[in-house]
Amino acid sequence: MSKIVVMGAGVCGLAAGLLLCRGGHEVTVLERDPDPVPSSPEEAWERWSRDGVSQFRLAHYLTPRGRIVLEEALPDVLAGLEAAGGIAFDPLPLMPPSITDRTPRDGDDRFRTVTARRPVFEQVLGRAVDAEPGLEIRRGVSVAELVLRAGNGTPHVTGVRTESGEQLDADLIVDAMGRRSQLPRWLEAAGAKPVHEEAEDSGFIYYSRFFRAASAGMPEYRAPLLMPIGTFSLLTLPSDNDTWSVTVYTSAGDRPLKRLRDPGPWTALVRACPLHAQWLEGEPISEVIAMGGILDRYRRLTVDGKPVATGVVLLGDSWTCTNPSLGRGMTLGLLHAQRLAEVVRAHPDDPDDFAEAWDAVTEAELTPWYRETVEEDRARIHQIEALRHGLEAAPEPGSMPWLQGALLAAVPQDPDAFRAFLANRCCLSLNREVFEDTSFMQRIFELARGSERPPLAGPDRDQLLALLDAAPASA
Ligand SMILES: Cc1cc2nc3c(=O)[nH]c(=O)nc-3n(C[C@H](O)[C@H](O)[C@H](O)COP(=O)(O)OP(=O)(O)OC[C@H]3O[C@@H](n4cnc5c(N)ncnc54)[C@H](O)[C@@H]3O)c2cc1C
Repeated sequence: MSKIVVMGAGVCGLAAGLLLCRGGHEVTVLERDPDPVPSSPEEAWERWSRDGVSQFRLAHYLTPRGRIVLEEALPDVLAGLEAAGGIAFDPLPLMPPSITDRTPRDGDDRFRTVTARRPVFEQVLGRAVDAEPGLEIRRGVSVAELVLRAGNGTPHVTGVRTESGEQLDADLIVDAMGRRSQLPRWLEAAGAKPVHEEAEDSGFIYYSRFFRAASAGMPEYRAPLLMPIGTFSLLTLPSDNDTWSVTVYTSAGDRPLKRLRDPGPWTALVRACPLHAQWLEGEPISEVIAMGGILDRYRRLTVDGKPVATGVVLLGDSWTCTNPSLGRGMTLGLLHAQRLAEVVRAHPDDPDDFAEAWDAVTEAELTPWYRETVEEDRARIHQIEALRHGLEAAPEPGSMPWLQGALLAAVPQDPDAFRAFLANRCCLSLNREVFEDTSFMQRIFELARGSERPPLAGPDRDQLLALLDAAPASA
């Protein structure tokens, strides 16, 4: 392979462009948003217009696995993120105080990350791409369709056509156009068979606000980054340059909670959560931004063991996107980009071999994360819906949510249980890998049997409805 066109310059397109160019390929990245990369992180936050990424100014966190991918594959980008004010964050000290054995262990440094607001991270990646010799990026260029060579066998994508009618030929086309990518439609329009696609709306809605420390740095963590509290969840994410985000998310069908769009009720809710109220002690640097209707979607170009087309790959969100409740999208996309560069290196010439290898790697390493994330989201929305109607959700014994419930019950009592849970949250190990360890799970079940349910870390349903009713709307 020599000529590669990457469609889309979000996190994944930029990372893939860099990695493929450094692998010796002639790479062109096409991005439909015209704005150049801002010169500073603050300008990126304040002024960068990125209509192509709806979630651009919503809460983002790079998990430790994402940091590891950067360290291995793009160490200069990681250094750039640190230099731009990215926060070095270690969730291990958030170990519950009830765990008495706090001795450090080998490998604990895997839990560390460096994270930043999404515009800041993308600014760092964008500058690296702009500075990369031989890597061409063209902003303000929208791809409109694929160019295919049809034959008796599998159609082969040979290039793209832009909205202005320009044709760019390439040996490989990388679709990094994000969750709104139209690639399956384009392929079908060009005569290829339908792509395999599964999609569902988990039914969450997110209400996020960013803050900046007034003086004394980031508030103290008194709870995990993500905490379910009855019919809503609270997500508090550290960010660059003394900023952080607070997100309340809940069921999109919960009408009384729609008031959370308004900063008045939103603030009243966060203030009523004793482990989280301190996160309001900063200067708000955004409105409360609401986002719902976020699909979980999985796509696969290989159907019945054969690619519907060769010469093209789905990468990052265009391949698979989930609800952001677990903040895994960028991490999985970066890992995907790292693997893409490796598979391109290993299968440079034969498009069929390449398609097969790419599908195998994606299915083995990435798809299990999609499946687990969706399963967890389904369980949480089911729980919220049950609680909203005064019921308890009782997961099926042996199911993933049931096993996860046991693990969570053991977490406050045991450093290994905490690390196992944290490793999953950090995208380091799948739940199923933990649950398959029968002797470990035996211990977890014993601990879970003797555990007490922790008190609710915020208002119960009646208190929640009352406080939202009473909260004044902001002017
Ligand atoms: C509310 C929310 C919160 C999130 N929080 C987190 C988090 O905390 N942590 C995390 O890891 N992930 C998070 N994610 C997921 C993360 O945003 C995505 O996984 C990530 O943006 C995927 O990057 P991407 O490059 O694949 O796609 P995108 O970032 O969507 O980029 C796609 C790019 O393609 C361009 N494009 C589209 N069509 C065309 C075209 N025809 N021609 C040329 N260019 C085109 C777009 O303009 C855009 O720049 C969150 C997502 C949402 C919705």
